[in-house]
Amino acid sequence: MYKIVKKIKISGQGITKTLALTIALLVFNSAIAFAYPYNATMDYSWGFDKGASRGKIIMYYQYGAMNWRSHVDFGVNQINNNPAAVSCYYGSSYNSADIVVSSNYWTDVTWSGSAYAPKSVKPKTVKLNSASSSAKSGSSWLCNSIATHELTHIWGLNDCDNSNSICCGYDSSRNVNTITNDVTTLLKSRYN
Ligand SMILES: [Zn+2]
Repeated sequence: MYKIVKKIKISGQGITKTLALTIALLVFNSAIAFAYPYNATMDYSWGFDKGASRGKIIMYYQYGAMNWRSHVDFGVNQINNNPAAVSCYYGSSYNSADIVVSSNYWTDVTWSGSAYAPKSVKPKTVKLNSASSSAKSGSSWLCNSIATHELTHIWGLNDCDNSNSICCGYDSSRNVNTITNDVTTLLKSRYN
């Protein structure tokens, strides 16, 4: 801000250049900022039917060396301790699983977590990538955030741009690792 003010005082050409640069930066930033809607939204083609959303069986499979189980536990607790009528518990056989979470090293992609959860698909799946830069940074807080975020997709939540929502689609921007009030409201309106 200080530099812009100083340029305005020095010369008219400086103003034009500064403005042009500012506008270019705004356009560039907007293109990134609006990749997702600002607020979290519900995709009704993903998730479960109302009434069939409680007590889903979740399985965890680890393939890479990094053990995500405690982070998946964290996410499961977030789902179960939520006032919305959604819950899950660990089962023991793949055939009965409603949700399968696997962790591995996928070095050819940039995501740290991904989910696939159309209503008609069983089991719905979450992949947690131990090779991604954000997961490799090793923060337990971040891994909890990633696991919780992916589990909200299982119940139909979309990515958003709000850094203060667990649905924020950018791991590096997300300021929270617990289910946030915006998501609780959406879950309750769909499932309760
Ligand atoms: Zn996401």
